[in-house]
Amino acid sequence: MSLSIVIVGRPNVGKSTLFNRLVGRRLALVDDRPGVTRDRREGEGRLGDIEFTVIDTAGLEQASPESLSGRMRAQTEAAIDQADIIFFMIDARAGPTPVDHDFADVARRSGKPIVLIANKSEGTAGESGRLEAYALGLGEPIPISAEHDEAARAFPLLVRQELAGLHSHIENLQRRRADAASR
Ligand code: GDP
Ligand code: MG
Repeated sequence: MSLSIVIVGRPNVGKSTLFNRLVGRRLALVDDRPGVTRDRREGEGRLGDIEFTVIDTAGLEQASPESLSGRMRAQTEAAIDQADIIFFMIDARAGPTPVDHDFADVARRSGKPIVLIANKSEGTAGESGRLEAYALGLGEPIPISAEHDEAARAFPLLVRQELAGLHSHIENLQRRRADAASR
């Protein structure tokens, strides 16, 4: 059974861009307008010898502004429930917002391992926002640029380092699943 990684975060931080990069195909819609990902999307990804299923979230299109946060929250919680590992993404240029803090609480309460990703970190415009993101309490914000070539080269390395830190967790999980399957 494959490991599942869910990418969560508020609209427009670059979740679908990262998803596309991880699966190596343009499966998810990338758009300037917040919330344009129609449904939850899943694809198979690989970093080095680690294979995983990656889930892109949003599904907020046509949500009315009043119901937006409620739907975002419900969808995020459902996706987190399903995942083994959470990629929690913020926009480093914008810095952490109140919505990010809100989602961070949801993610933290799940007790699942979280990789905090500070996207849009190409150049220097994201550095102060990235540092502020320590306040989310999710550990070190890893700077990436899901979109730009320069950082796209550095990106697999950065995320792989984080995944390497999660290796023992992944091995435990795989052992437990193998045990369950052989029973
Ligand atoms: P989502 O709503 O979180 O899925 O975000 P999208 O992947 O649809 O991206 C939202 C916007 O951010 C699009 O205009 C992307 O081109 C842009 N974007 C994504 N990644 C980066 C990045 O690394 N740097 C910059 N500057 N823009 C990005
Ligand atoms: Mg999207």
